[in-house]
This record gives sequence, structure tokens and C-alpha cells, in this order.
Amino acid sequence: MDWFARIRGRRKTAVQHRLAQVFLTNTLSGNKELFVSQKPKTALLYSCGPTVYNRAHIGNLRAYVFSDTLARTLAAAGYHVRRVINITDVGHLVGDGDRGEDKMSVGAAREHTTPEAIALRYAKLFIEDIDELNIDTNDILFPRATDYIKEQIALAKTLEEKGFAYRLSDGLYFDTQKFPGYGKLGGLSGVKLEAGARVEVVRGKHHPSDFVLWRTAKPEDLQQWDSPWGRGNPGWHIECSAMIRALLGQEIDIHTGGEDHVSVHHNNEIAQSEAANGRTFVHYWMHSAFLTMNGEKASKSLGNVIYLSDILEKGFHPLALRYFFLQAHYRTPLSFSWDALAGAASALDRLWKLSREISQESKSVGVPSEARERFLATVRDDLATPQALGVLWDSLRSEEYAPEEKWGLLEDAEAHFGLALRTPPPLPGALAEADIPEEVRKRVARREAARASSDFEEADRIRREIEKSGYRVEDSSGGPVLTKRP
Ligand code: AMP
Ligand code: ZN
Repeated sequence: MDWFARIRGRRKTAVQHRLAQVFLTNTLSGNKELFVSQKPKTALLYSCGPTVYNRAHIGNLRAYVFSDTLARTLAAAGYHVRRVINITDVGHLVGDGDRGEDKMSVGAAREHTTPEAIALRYAKLFIEDIDELNIDTNDILFPRATDYIKEQIALAKTLEEKGFAYRLSDGLYFDTQKFPGYGKLGGLSGVKLEAGARVEVVRGKHHPSDFVLWRTAKPEDLQQWDSPWGRGNPGWHIECSAMIRALLGQEIDIHTGGEDHVSVHHNNEIAQSEAANGRTFVHYWMHSAFLTMNGEKASKSLGNVIYLSDILEKGFHPLALRYFFLQAHYRTPLSFSWDALAGAASALDRLWKLSREISQESKSVGVPSEARERFLATVRDDLATPQALGVLWDSLRSEEYAPEEKWGLLEDAEAHFGLALRTPPPLPGALAEADIPEEVRKRVARREAARASSDFEEADRIRREIEKSGYRVEDSSGGPVLTKRP
């Protein structure tokens, strides 16, 4: 069933025995709440995925680093996290409403190929991008909407049978007035008319917020299937409701997405799922704020987007972008600039340098400490990553903690941040054994011996000798690393 599983293996996450408390801001209540899962020790997490008619930009990637930080935090708190990110490869119209061009057709026309080829190309690039950002894609299911047409039809049929849908010549529509509390997410109930009216105007709709469940095909439509309502294709919202029900069940713990999805897409998902299943759909709704470029939302349609590949081409490490995202709280808009990214990259380099040193000093043995407790309490308080980074920096620089306590903190920080803190990449310019002159190699060995016998004065003296001969030695978890001095 799962096309991605055919390409990649799957691995189970380790489960701790005691659960730690995690607090999360729930868009449904507008409050920070203690997270309590429906099933013991299991967290069911769904994130709205990309529409694969184009490459995901770094604004989109922010939404997935956020949901990954959430998943990591829950896993470190002891939950087995089951994750799904859908791949939208049908039904999403430009503008998100029920009118306008189909995004997959736009992509196919642009590249003179089929929607299937476009979907495959951009789904692959998306998964590669999030892999680069250290998101463990083996732990996530990536269902494609076109693989769940049957389930989407079944859900729409149930809604029609239960009296929540009506037919128009161009498709089957959800009747939002039949669903009490429509628009409850984000406190929109009072303004639902306005919210709906902004989206589109389709002739014959009972209410402006009604939305399409199944769209009647036009002869030129590249994607169409048989259904009880004739040939056609599914509306955009129904895919998430149907795939969640098929893969995670009727009731899930957490649903995430960008803040743009609150008013329409997620309110529509709630209406469809709760009307069909007759029970609560999602217990915690979480939304990440936008990435902006010069004050404007980064978006494909505004043409002001940057891709991960642009960042790599400029020589940045992909995790510099992850560090940049973590410097802001997920609910705060974040403004991108190349200078800010360079700042994040240099901070991460310094963190990696500290990690190499601490790894040596502690022999990579971690022990509990008050710093670790503070770090965990901070990150478990609604993923306060900027403050948690502050705790990390202060504690690593402090004289108060032993190397083993610092290493323990780095282990926790790595589990939550995914910044390769335990296994920093090799220093740029590290020399291969064969490229180091014999006499320098001997000095390095003598320095290691001095360090092993805790003669740090002698070790320092030898380091200065090495520097005089034009080299620089740095300590890493894999031993001393030699680079040429600039
Ligand atoms: P899309 O491919 O447009 O459906 O978007 C995929 C995800 O990225 C959704 O969760 C959006 O809410 C989110 N998103 C889109 N644009 C931005 C942006 N500029 N900043 C942050 N998240 C965004
Ligand atoms: Zn969705």
C-alpha cells in the first residue's frame, strides 16, 4: 500500500518506560495544555504535506522542521511516535479554494509531462531535502493522495448518506451549516461567512463556506476516476481526512500545519472527519508561523522563495538552516536573510567545536545534571527552542559543569534538535594522514601522550610547536584533527 516503503526500510523508535510531561499550545483552545495521548505511550502525529507540483521552499521546510522537533520531543519524553506526512498529488487548486487551475496540471503543463511524473519528481526532492535537514524519513509514512482515491470516495459517500453533502452540476459539496460548530478552530465560528467568502464563489452553493468533496471532471482533466457522482477527482481537504482515517485511525493526537491552514483547510478537515466518524478528530492542533522574506510571506506565487539547494550552493551546511529555524519559536514569524543564516552557521560551527572538545574530555560519557533538567523542562514547555539553545550555550561555556555533565546535555540537545551535536561533521580542510609530514605526525602523537597523562602544560606547548610549523590541531570525538593554518 505504501509506495515509499517500497523504496526505503522502516525502523522502530526506542520507547522509554516513564513518560515525561510535555506542554503544547493547542490552536483549538488557544492555550498551552499538558499533552495526554489517547493510547498509552503512543503519539499519533499527522502533518499536512507538500503539494508536489513544484519544489518545496525553505518556508515549507520550516513547517517540517517544526513537526520534527515536536516528534523528537515526544520521543525523548517516552512516546512511540507514529508519523504521517501526506503527499498531495491531486485535487489542490491554485488559491486553495474550489475555483481556479489545478496545481498538478499547472506543473505538468510547465514541464511538458504528466501529473504523475511531476509528483514523483517533486516528492523525491522533498524527501531528499528533509533528509538533508536530519529529519528521519524512515520513521515517517508518506502516503500519496492518488493511492487513497477509494478511501476518499468512501468518506464522501458516508457524508452524503449522513446528509452532510449535496450535489451540484460540478460536484459534491459539504454542507457546512449542517455541521454544528463549523469553524471552531482558531475561534472562527462567528466569522465563518467572511472566511468562506474570501475563498471562492461557486454558483448554487448553499453557503459560501461550503466546499467541494468530489469535483466532476472536465474532459481535459488529466486526473480522473469513476465515482458514485460520475468521473472526477477529489477535493483537496478530503485527502487528509481519508488518509488519517486509513493510516492512523478515526481519532488522533496531534495534527500540524502552517498557520495558513487554520481557517479553511483544517476547519474543513474537522467538519468532514467529525461528521463522518461521529467523534473527536484531533485532540491537539498545532500551527507554525511563516517564514518571511523582506517582510512578505515566502510563497511560490509571490516568486520570492529560496530553496535548500540555493543554500547548499552557497556552501552552507544544511543543518545551518535547521539551527536558524530553531533560533525562533515555532509560533513566531521568522524573517530570512543571508546574514542571519551566516550567523546561524557560525554559531553551529562553534557548537560543533565545543562538542569535539567535550567529547574528548568526557570520553563521550554522559551523566545527569541540573543543566540537563533545565534544558528538558525548557524544550518541553511548548518547544521553547530559542530558550533551550540559551540553556545549552550557557551550560557548555560554564565552569560549573564537569565534561561528563556537558556531554550528557549534548546528548539531550541532539535528541531534540537534530543538529549532529554528538557526531559533528569533520572539520573543513581536515588533512588525510598521508598529507601530514612525518615530523608533525610525531608531535601530534607526543601531544596525545601528554594529554593522556594529564600533562596539559606539555600538551599546550606541543600544540604551539605544531602551529609554528604551519598546522593547527583540534580535538574531535574521533581523535586529533589536523588542518593547514590559513
Ligand atoms: P503547500 O505545499 O503550499 O501545501 O505547503 C506545505 C506546508 O508549508 C504547509 O504546512 C504550509 O502551511 C507551509 N508553508 C507554506 N508557506 C510557508 C511559509 N512561507 N512559511 C512557513 N510555512 C509555510
Ligand atoms: Zn491537510
